Amino acid sequence: MHTMPNPRSTLHALAPMGAGTPEVESLTSYFCRLAHSHGMTAQKLADWVLQRFNHEVCEKYGWHQRNLSSMSPESEQWAAWLSELTGVGELDRHTLAPWRTVLGKSGLAPKSDRWCPCCLAEDKAKGTDPYLRLSWDLAPVTACLRHKVELTSTCPHCQRSNVRNRSSIVVPGYCTSCGGFLGDAETGPASPEGLWMARQVGQMLQARPKIADTGLVPLLETIIERMADGRPSTFASRYGFSKSGISHWLNKGGIPTLSAWLTIALHGAIGLDQLFAGEVSDWVPPLEPVQMPIALPESPRAGIQSRALDWDAIRAQLREMLRAPQPVSVHEASERLGVDRKNLYLRANLEARALAERYQRHRAALGEQRQARLRTQIGQVLDERLAAGYAGMSARDIWNRIDTEAQSVSGIFRHISAVRDERLS
Ligand SMILES: [Zn+2]
Ligand SMILES: [Zn+2]
Repeated sequence: MHTMPNPRSTLHALAPMGAGTPEVESLTSYFCRLAHSHGMTAQKLADWVLQRFNHEVCEKYGWHQRNLSSMSPESEQWAAWLSELTGVGELDRHTLAPWRTVLGKSGLAPKSDRWCPCCLAEDKAKGTDPYLRLSWDLAPVTACLRHKVELTSTCPHCQRSNVRNRSSIVVPGYCTSCGGFLGDAETGPASPEGLWMARQVGQMLQARPKIADTGLVPLLETIIERMADGRPSTFASRYGFSKSGISHWLNKGGIPTLSAWLTIALHGAIGLDQLFAGEVSDWVPPLEPVQMPIALPESPRAGIQSRALDWDAIRAQLREMLRAPQPVSVHEASERLGVDRKNLYLRANLEARALAERYQRHRAALGEQRQARLRTQIGQVLDERLAAGYAGMSARDIWNRIDTEAQSVSGIFRHISAVRDERLS
């Protein structure tokens, strides 16, 4: 990395990537690249900046335990500090802070750090620094619009998660645990919904929201006016919101979550960017219910006939499925990985067999549970009947009194007779 020191700034005037585009860089990524350009660890740069601004830190500041790209005032503070030190303006646009007054916090942060391997690989192939996109830090975004693939969260080399930037030394694009290139990860094609959401959020990130000053209520009132004739309760039931939630937005300063905004954008056929710019004067929502407005994506991997499969990675993914709380069948594994079942048994025999065995045990246990539940119900029905003074009950009568789940157990009448005979003998 060759960055000339800026004579007017204390730190290199490193240019942030993707400013003003859907692929805007996150401040976390910028910060790591900045540290790297100075030959410092990210932790050392964080300590140095805090000291420079005489910021008291009681305990050791683990820089990576904070999210520098979030909506918090802390992110905004970091953006301001780094702008001052680098001479690069508006670094807060690389955080979610500008959306603090329009986006609810709930459900916004992803459970683990994600990335699009194709984006990182493309950065590298172009000879530029691989960098992390801000959109990857918004949980409802699960896909890359540019490459039409799902984001991933596992290092393809060591299979660990949260290895993107949670360490004192970070080079964006490389695993903080094993050092492998994160752009090597394999990922599947994105769903149409995933791509639609990625597009919406990407457009939103291009420009600051303009409604931040006028407040949300006038916008929300316009939305309810156009989409439900001004009736909040109709709006709530029509689009799956709670009435108290709507009332909270309108009367108590509540802020819709990103998912709520996406619901409005989808059914109102209006972009998030237009909503947040307050461009609603000419907006007419559609009369008919809206279907997903985009065609099926074209996978960048489609048409590649014999893709070379990375069996080490596939076996690792199978092992991960083996550890998943919900047992996964080989059939499902083959669907998820896009690899033929026969091939899985051939090339990852141990893992495939272990999956199959685990799944069979799970099915058997489920069957036993259902039978035990059924027998309890039959017993209860009979006990009630006997307590009421009757001598017995036909299997058909019992069947009529158990719930539909129990009714559908195979061999039901055999079970009923067995329990009845047990009780009455
Ligand atoms: Zn991508
Ligand atoms: Zn790794």
